[in-house]
Amino acid sequence: MLDADFFRRWMTATAASVDREADRLTDLDSPIGDADHGSNLQRGFTAVRATLEKEGPGTPGAVLALAGRQLISTVGGASGPLYGTLLRRTGKALGDAAEVSDEQFAEALRTGVEAVRTLGGAAPGDKTMIDALVPAVDALGESFAAARDAARAGAEATTPLQARKGRASYLGERSVGHQDPGAASAALLIAALVEAAG
Ligand code: ADP
Ligand code: MG
Ligand code: MG
Repeated sequence: MLDADFFRRWMTATAASVDREADRLTDLDSPIGDADHGSNLQRGFTAVRATLEKEGPGTPGAVLALAGRQLISTVGGASGPLYGTLLRRTGKALGDAAEVSDEQFAEALRTGVEAVRTLGGAAPGDKTMIDALVPAVDALGESFAAARDAARAGAEATTPLQARKGRASYLGERSVGHQDPGAASAALLIAALVEAAG
């Protein structure tokens, strides 16, 4: 079973890996964006870590809902509302249980990813975070490690795609040949599950 501490560890492990990888995320966002993805997420997850420490939410759902609200209020770019919605809606789907099963979490994350698709209008293959999140959710029933690997593969597979959503889509064919920064950060978020569980 997964308790509030597990979800807190998930968020702090994500914050640590975003700190480590911020330069790479910003570099990915420079040829096909505005070179701020690493700093956007660093600001957001630093605030998430601080607010979780300060407020100490007591259930899995409350941890994710608070983290999501914090991302929405601190990240100005497209990724703030999208990741914020992902976590808020996943948290809401977990309800107020003190512990949730792996299966309940997988189902809740699927609800969260669907909410991101509704908000951003992106489908798989549009070269966005969705290309890492959808395969991750599909593999989550197997294990966290399988989800991590699927997210990573999904992120890498965005390189040859032409962007159809977000800032990168303004470049048309010139967006081909670069990995999507949001798909790369989504792979970090999913990989942090393995750390939180270990
Ligand atoms: P901004 O583009 O506003 O500077 P970021 O650089 O923080 O915001 O985030 C860019 C990432 O957000 C993209 O790489 C992409 O993965 C994701 N993104 C942008 N628009 C959408 C959308 N409509 N649906 C899903 N993801 C999106
Ligand atoms: Mg950007
Ligand atoms: Mg920006």
